[in-house]
Amino acid sequence: MVDLTRRFDVLVIGGGNAALCAAISARRAGASVLVLEGAPKFYRGGNTRHTRNMRCAHDAATEILTGPYTEEEFWKDLLLVTGGQTDEELARFMIHESKDILNWIVEQGVRWQPSLGGTLSLGRTNSFFLGGGRAMLNALYRTAEELGVDILYDAEVIDLNIEDGMFLSAQLKQPVGGKTEVRASTLVAAAGGFEANIEWLKQYWGEAADNFLIRGTPFNRGAILKMLLAKGVQEIGDPTQCHAVAIDARAPKFDGGIITRHDSVVFGIVVNKHAERFYDEGEDIWPKRYAIWGRLVAAQPDQIAYIIFDSTVVTSFMPTLFPPIAGATIAELAGKLELDAAALEKTITEFNAAVQPGTFDHTILDDCRTEGITPPKTHWARKIETAPYLAYPVRPGITFTYLGTRVNKQARMLMKDGKPAANMFAAGEIMAGNVLGKGYAAGMGMTIGSVFGRVAGREAARNARN
Ligand SMILES: Cc1cc2nc3c(=O)[nH]c(=O)nc-3n(C[C@H](O)[C@H](O)[C@H](O)COP(=O)(O)OP(=O)(O)OC[C@H]3O[C@@H](n4cnc5c(N)ncnc54)[C@H](O)[C@@H]3O)c2cc1C
Repeated sequence: MVDLTRRFDVLVIGGGNAALCAAISARRAGASVLVLEGAPKFYRGGNTRHTRNMRCAHDAATEILTGPYTEEEFWKDLLLVTGGQTDEELARFMIHESKDILNWIVEQGVRWQPSLGGTLSLGRTNSFFLGGGRAMLNALYRTAEELGVDILYDAEVIDLNIEDGMFLSAQLKQPVGGKTEVRASTLVAAAGGFEANIEWLKQYWGEAADNFLIRGTPFNRGAILKMLLAKGVQEIGDPTQCHAVAIDARAPKFDGGIITRHDSVVFGIVVNKHAERFYDEGEDIWPKRYAIWGRLVAAQPDQIAYIIFDSTVVTSFMPTLFPPIAGATIAELAGKLELDAAALEKTITEFNAAVQPGTFDHTILDDCRTEGITPPKTHWARKIETAPYLAYPVRPGITFTYLGTRVNKQARMLMKDGKPAANMFAAGEIMAGNVLGKGYAAGMGMTIGSVFGRVAGREAARNARN
């Protein structure tokens, strides 16, 4: 039974990777810590439950990583995917700290495993959690509990009492017990983005947001972010920017997780509901491009698209939860997809005619390309000509949003006047926009949460002592 009448040193709001890293780090620094997780225990851990890996810099191969991935290379990758829209000081700090996180996270009970082939080629850059995100979380929760961190589930924070950048208390709502005022000397906000709040998304995306599927937790509704911004915390990031991938249109509205994502784009073509191609499917290697396809589909009419391929490539990518829709002819496939058969036949005929001879290799930027069509397919272009013809219907799958709270290197929130908040820190998705102005490189969500979570916990504990 947690004693809610006491005043805690550190209150952590959230129950995912960022929250747990903060809680453990604060507790190890000697603070009393309360974690309030809005979700029921079974669903604890937000989007972190769905993760598989984390991107960390390292100077040499390890037992599970195939080669070095230097700080400079990580920085260059970040610059490339964000188009320079990143806070260089914070980003370089995060990258430097990520080196140490590889070992620190193991000290908290998490185990690594080598990368499995078949989806993104990440064996050199990303460490995979043995047992996936849930096993990772279970280890963090166990460690937190053993260290004496107090944890409440079904514990939604519905209000924050903040005066002049100073956190005073939080109002907690529980199914049993009702509303309670919780007091703490410092706050760590690690309550995710606002991706599960369709009404909020609609403010920027309009009605199109009704067709978005949310890949992760329904509990990340952005309530804490909204409260912090309303109480004078400086915001960072473009509200329309988010991590969004193409996922199966048959996936559930929330929590479909990783098994609904499609990694087959480079093996075929993608058409919209008019059976027309709209983007170069072979622009760059898939790990650098998979995260743009959610936005691309979002920009298409009715936010729907179809990945079309033929039977020769079916075993080239990881199978997904839903089987492909098949047709013995293009016309039959079009009928099943409710596309205009003549239009789809025309698109595929033109595409096939534009394919140039080359040597196919999906692990490099190969020379299989089209000539004379718009948009081109600049790599991995092969004719679609062997029945049965196959398709996956896809919609935008929103992973997480980038609008967040501005922080400094101590993970301390900055107020609108530029001054650091007295006792408020943030980690994870809720401040991801400091590093990710746009774009994404696989595994960075967990890097942001772990690095800034650990820092936030340590700094919050120090702040509480003073
Ligand atoms: C399908 C999928 C796969 C992914 N795979 C990867 C991957 O392999 N590698 C990677 O780096 N990233 C991945 N990501 C992104 C990654 O999940 C996030 O970047 C990361 O988990 C964010 O951690 P977090 O702690 O900030 O947020 P979360 O883990 O989402 O935790 C937020 C927590 O806040 C709680 N909360 C929200 N509002 C309140 C409130 N009012 N009161 C109390 N609690 C509240 C939620 O219940 C939740 O527990 C993936 C995401 C998805 C959806």
